[in-house]
Amino acid sequence: MGEVRFIREPTVRLVGRQTVNVGALEDFLAESGAPGWHTDARTAAEELIEVAGRCCYESWKNPRPGGNKAYIGHILEVGHGSVCEHAVWNFIVTGVSRSLSHELVRHRVGLGISQLSQRYVDESDVAFVVPPALLDHHAEWEAWAARYREWEGDKKLPYPGKSAKADLYETWLTGIGSGLNAYRLLVDFLMGEHAHIEDKTTRRKVVRETARSVLPNATETKLFLTFNARSLRHFLELRGSTGADAEIRRLALAILKIMQVEAPNIFADYRLEQVGGVEQIVTEHRKV
Ligand SMILES: Cc1cc2nc3c(=O)[nH]c(=O)nc-3n(C[C@H](O)[C@H](O)[C@H](O)COP(=O)(O)OP(=O)(O)OC[C@H]3O[C@@H](n4cnc5c(N)ncnc54)[C@H](O)[C@@H]3O)c2cc1C
Repeated sequence: MGEVRFIREPTVRLVGRQTVNVGALEDFLAESGAPGWHTDARTAAEELIEVAGRCCYESWKNPRPGGNKAYIGHILEVGHGSVCEHAVWNFIVTGVSRSLSHELVRHRVGLGISQLSQRYVDESDVAFVVPPALLDHHAEWEAWAARYREWEGDKKLPYPGKSAKADLYETWLTGIGSGLNAYRLLVDFLMGEHAHIEDKTTRRKVVRETARSVLPNATETKLFLTFNARSLRHFLELRGSTGADAEIRRLALAILKIMQVEAPNIFADYRLEQVGGVEQIVTEHRKV
């Protein structure tokens, strides 16, 4: 199947965060009899959640001891989660599989998704995501493949034996390879079959939407995601649990790591717990 790229872990980039329009907020605060109101929040997301909460009760003059951290902590405690919907972040996630994206789209509320199109974009050189449970197997196979190449260059070397794990990985690889080969063949032949479609974009779409049916679930996809704090918390709780698929759990853990630095007052209540050798995300404040 020629040179094929394999991906061992996802890349998560936080590409967008909010800003506070200070002038407009100060204008509103002055009108509300609270000129000069101030919070110790370090980020716009945390500040906006507090402002939204205080808007509900006009509680500008009752600073909570402990500042923004305590304010948001209280919101999480009492489950006043709707104010968390005002904090929003944008992520670009690459190195994840189509099986992962299939699970992700089940999150219907508060999550915007833009996904790489398999109709507009040719997948002949696509990468594949190695499932977490096959990462060791992948490493053993790569080590074996390197020894095999050495042996090919010098047949006097002892023939390299393949471990059981490397052997099993090869079974996975065979599945991937046959899907990819079939895709490439179908694209070639279908292009000829649909040559009568004059518009190049339309022709390619017809060809690729047909050929993609043979691509495996491990095919890499790329996602632009927009979560609000409430929907992100819900995602982290569901997909960071031991029952979740290993690849999406790994993504949840990677996002949590970023968010605990980005907005600690909103995500600091989460901790990681080992359950049966698997790391899971836990909190006292589920589904706020
Ligand atoms: C470990 C695990 C295993 C899973 N296994 C399967 C499986 O085998 N098969 C399968 O199909 N799915 C499975 N799922 C997906 C799961 O059923 C949910 O579709 C997914 O987790 C999204 O959760 P959600 O509906 O709470 O989130 P969202 O769709 O984001 O909704 C958020 C919340 O909004 C409310 N809400 C949303 N829509 C409605 C509505 N129409 N009416 C009323 N309230 C609503 C609910 O309170 C919901 O929790 C699994 C999920 C996990 C975490």
